[in-house]
Amino acid sequence: MDFDAVYYEPASLSFELGKQLKEQFYDLPWIPIENHNSIEEMREKENSEFSKMKRNLIVGTRKTHKYVENHKVSDYLVPYTSSGCTAMCLYCYLVCNYNKCAYLRLFVNREQMLDRLIKKSKNSEIPLTFEIGSNSDLVLENTITNNLLYTIPRFAEEGAGSLTFPTKFHMVDSLLDLPHKGKVIFRMSVNPQRLISRIELGTSSLEKRIEAVNRMCEAGYPCGLLIAPVMLVDGWKAMYTELLEQLRDDLTEKAQKQMFLEIIMMTYSYVHRAINSEAFPNALDLYDKQLMTGRGRGRYCYRPEARAEAEEFLRSEIKRILGNVKILYIS
Ligand code: SF4
Repeated sequence: MDFDAVYYEPASLSFELGKQLKEQFYDLPWIPIENHNSIEEMREKENSEFSKMKRNLIVGTRKTHKYVENHKVSDYLVPYTSSGCTAMCLYCYLVCNYNKCAYLRLFVNREQMLDRLIKKSKNSEIPLTFEIGSNSDLVLENTITNNLLYTIPRFAEEGAGSLTFPTKFHMVDSLLDLPHKGKVIFRMSVNPQRLISRIELGTSSLEKRIEAVNRMCEAGYPCGLLIAPVMLVDGWKAMYTELLEQLRDDLTEKAQKQMFLEIIMMTYSYVHRAINSEAFPNALDLYDKQLMTGRGRGRYCYRPEARAEAEEFLRSEIKRILGNVKILYIS
């Protein structure tokens, strides 16, 4: 991964990971900042510079550690070792939170974050599942920090319950031989290749993602798939049918037997429209006035009729093509 510069909080360099990153990126300019949340120089940039801004790496410490209850695949969303990402999915939910500053931020106080997580997991009377990848893509992040190599064996040994994270990347080689004790649920996000190429800019191809799930499943990790986000663009039915057929043909029998599905319909926002129209003027416009409606704070979602049609279509195609695979939810 090529970066142009590293913006860093000086205190990060007293952490082991901070030192490691300094060595790794010794040939880049290191620019001191007061706080990773407010880099004035970045805030002043134009929307059109969005992709250029993604070529910066931000290094700091995470100061807020509030776990948010969640009732889908996990019990809690845990702020973990990074936020943002170097890829540029045109609908990326992080853009709602960080606006054009959705670049990759690495938090070097990982020991503190994992200690806290292990403690919380052990204090519970029932096994809990912690989602650690809701703010970034940990498989991508791991290629820079090795944070999963740090996290998975330690949680497997010392933690109770499970960890889980979703990804759109295939670089799982280094995870295959880790002692995970079945406590880490790997979830791969998939979409039709035509949409990956046009919308999920900078992420792994569908073929590579499928291969990665097969390998993780073979390595004993419990695995799931997210069909997310479902985008109701021209020709969507044919594209999603083709996707399901590809999953049936290319996922191993073992993966198909044990996997579960999560299905999430796309949401979009005024901020996405503003950034995408200036940063990617030739990209497919994901805003569809006919199909979408406002859902407060400048956000849009598909109208109830459109969602109902999509849900019915997907449920029946999944049954026809993949059989009785478990659908955890459609949201
Ligand atoms: Fe956002 Fe995930 Fe895409 Fe990265 S891979 S841009 S975090 S949706």
